[in-house]
Amino acid sequence: MNDQLLEKRITGIAGAPGICIGKAYLVDSGGVDVIKKYTLADNEIKTEVARFKTAVNTAKNELKEVIRNTPSALGEHVQILETHLLLFKDKMLYEKTIKSIESKKFNAEWALKTVVDETKRIFKNIEDEYLKSRGADIVHVADRIMLNLTGAVEVNIADIRKRVILVAKDLSPAQTSQIQLDKIMGFVTDKGGTASHTSIIARTLELPCVLGLEKATSQIKNDDIIIVDGLEGIVIINPEEETLLEFEQRKKDYELRQAEVTRTSHLPAKTKDGHVINVMGNIEFAEEVVSVRDHGGDGVGLYRTEFLYMNRDSYPDENEQFEKYREVAELMAPGEVIIRTLDINGDKALKYNTDQLPETNPALGLRAIRFCLKRKEIFKSQLRAILKASNFGKIKILFPMISSLGEVIEAKKLLLQCQSELDQNKIKWDRDIKTGIMIEVPSAAIIADILAKEVDFFSLGTNDLVQYTLAIDRGNEEVAHLYNELNPAVLRLIKNTVEVAEKNNIEISICGEMAGNPINIPLLLGLGIKNLSMYPHGIPQIKQIIRELSFKDAVDLTKEIFRQNNCHDSKNLIRYKYGDTLKL
Ligand code: PEP
Ligand code: MG
Repeated sequence: MNDQLLEKRITGIAGAPGICIGKAYLVDSGGVDVIKKYTLADNEIKTEVARFKTAVNTAKNELKEVIRNTPSALGEHVQILETHLLLFKDKMLYEKTIKSIESKKFNAEWALKTVVDETKRIFKNIEDEYLKSRGADIVHVADRIMLNLTGAVEVNIADIRKRVILVAKDLSPAQTSQIQLDKIMGFVTDKGGTASHTSIIARTLELPCVLGLEKATSQIKNDDIIIVDGLEGIVIINPEEETLLEFEQRKKDYELRQAEVTRTSHLPAKTKDGHVINVMGNIEFAEEVVSVRDHGGDGVGLYRTEFLYMNRDSYPDENEQFEKYREVAELMAPGEVIIRTLDINGDKALKYNTDQLPETNPALGLRAIRFCLKRKEIFKSQLRAILKASNFGKIKILFPMISSLGEVIEAKKLLLQCQSELDQNKIKWDRDIKTGIMIEVPSAAIIADILAKEVDFFSLGTNDLVQYTLAIDRGNEEVAHLYNELNPAVLRLIKNTVEVAEKNNIEISICGEMAGNPINIPLLLGLGIKNLSMYPHGIPQIKQIIRELSFKDAVDLTKEIFRQNNCHDSKNLIRYKYGDTLKL
């Protein structure tokens, strides 16, 4: 029997709900992460040097082609690329690599890698901004050469025009956001954790996916028929007839259930004892606001604006941003729109931010507000765009990744500057605009009482709060089993923040993925949270669940949860009391 056609099941992390069945299409995004090392025989050295030189020339020609095709409006970008052209023969890169092949007998890939690592190390500690950016330029050029040496092809996800299911080692949030929805049915990856931005985007795009499969790319071949069950986190390769029929039925049932709850999505989320909850949607792109409205969302609880900055070659200008923010505000009116300022870096690096060197711990690095307070001109252009748009709907401003009081004060100072700049130019903005902060770093939750004095509202970002409290990389499949929102340490921080908000009479919402997961709803209600924000598709189900709950019972359950010592007991307790209502 042909072994390749035997049905095989692999289990990973349920990334985004839904089931899809179709042909697999393997993409190697980058492909240069695993670089082979071997020693050359003496008679191979000459050929290896020639191979390196050919890769350099090809890379150089490719770059020339890119420059030729870059619109003249992007003049500054072209200038940067032209300086890259000169670096191909740079001593630090070209000569050192050849020397390394000749003297150490390394293969070209390994020689280049060691030279690049050394370059990164040298430039890392340099203060001078100009020199620092030169280091980053060398790395870019080296990446281009490496792609030619390894023969890897950089797949442009946006160009895939087949009706397929993507199979990849990893997909970045930026790549995921480029997926053509009318073609790609879903995707599976070797890497990735529960709360990764990749899975968040997939949920918004309603693309079933399973992440963290570890061996998907080695077990699945192009054109294999696969079933992706994003509800259970299972992938079935070459399913037998019986399995196919079973999953086609499951798919139909799931879609029917979704259609049923969507029919009631316009009804308010009011508990049986009359407690009303504001249920809103999280969006990454302006266009998604339609989905929030269609799914019965009361507003946009989180607009992740960084996605407007991705998949392009330079920062969006103030006017382009203004148009997008205005569009969202107008489409959502009279509902409110919480616009979060740029939360880049971490797993959302901008490829054109070339003056920043790779960080050893990106999640703990120059991310979000830290980046904005350093690059004030970029931050201020966004703040002015938001302020201008505030004249066209109900907008609130949200600062991400706050970890200390100083950051809030500094951000507000810049906001004030932008407001007076607009006043000077007689441009209108909403004088009642509210300012809030994400509570997603443990330090912010602990000093919430201090921060509350400076802001109008809090938004709990549980995705990062779990990551930073429990020291678990939210995108790492190896530690995904430890990632749990019901961990008592996380719950205590949430409780403290809610109590502080109440005491200081400021609003509090929750926009982390925790808010869109049915199992957490009685607890969040019982804690007194009145504003939930989630992926748009999840809104109808969460509203329906709220209508079936009693606030009083939820408060009792919450008290009991706070008596548990671990997340498993809390989970069991919720399952025991609410299993049927929550369809767990
Ligand atoms: C969070 O951290 O919970 C959050 C909502 O922000 P993001 O997922 O974009 O980091
Ligand atoms: Mg966050």
